[in-house]
Amino acid sequence: MKIIMLGAPGAGKGTQAEMIAEKYDLPHISTGDIFRANIKAGTELGNKAKAYMDKGQLVPDSLTIDLVMDRLSQPDCDGGYILDGFPRTIPQAVSLTKALRDRGETLDYAINVHVPDERIVSRMSGRRACSGCGQTYHMVFAPPKTEGICNKCGSELFLRDDDKPETVKKRLAVYHNQTQPLIEYYGKQRILRTVDGTKDMEDVFQDITNILGA
Ligand code: ADP
Ligand code: ADP
Ligand code: ZN
Repeated sequence: MKIIMLGAPGAGKGTQAEMIAEKYDLPHISTGDIFRANIKAGTELGNKAKAYMDKGQLVPDSLTIDLVMDRLSQPDCDGGYILDGFPRTIPQAVSLTKALRDRGETLDYAINVHVPDERIVSRMSGRRACSGCGQTYHMVFAPPKTEGICNKCGSELFLRDDDKPETVKKRLAVYHNQTQPLIEYYGKQRILRTVDGTKDMEDVFQDITNILGA
């Protein structure tokens, strides 16, 4: 099964993608995680990406598309995958469609996690990320067992720079301009499924599994 996740920053794409990956045994490919890993490792790609991410802008398509195509050509993607945070622009979506078509493949589902803007800023200010393994928490909705410490690896949690309210507002504007048109794009391909992302995480996941099947 090949799935992409659509939705505003903070809608819960990563949270749901991780649960889907586990249940359906698919690799979870998050472009945000790949960029952050590159930043941490101090690679050239990381340095370039950071300048855009810090400003709440998208990393240019020229840097993003090849990176994802390369990842999708690795053997663990042969049985399908879940793409979280890609595509985010029409050129990215068109590149993905073409790459799949060249291999005689298509996407199965574009899952759109819908959350209205007014909920996003408060949700993001409570998000915490693990400095060690990248696991995501929420101070209210998904707190760690020990405050400020990752359940999985024991490292400290932090507020992402780009999750501060000023940057979140910019990212939302970028989302509406550049990413929201994908809803129509995948609607036309007849693979769009929209779920209500304001529900509890488990309920959103239930709605998604109803779509994907047992
Ligand atoms: P969120 O899901 O909260 O929006 P991500 O971790 O997916 O956050 O992305 C963080 C940042 O990484 C984005 O704001 C953007 O700068 C960059 N990024 C991630 N995916 C893409 C992409 N497909 N195209 C361009 N930039 C991206
Ligand atoms: P995205 O990948 O779309 O940016 P995340 O999955 O990182 O979003 O979720 C953003 C924040 O909201 C995280 O702190 C996460 O724990 C929390 N969260 C995710 N889904 C829900 C939900 N259904 N209800 C409340 N909080 C949620
Ligand atoms: Zn951790």
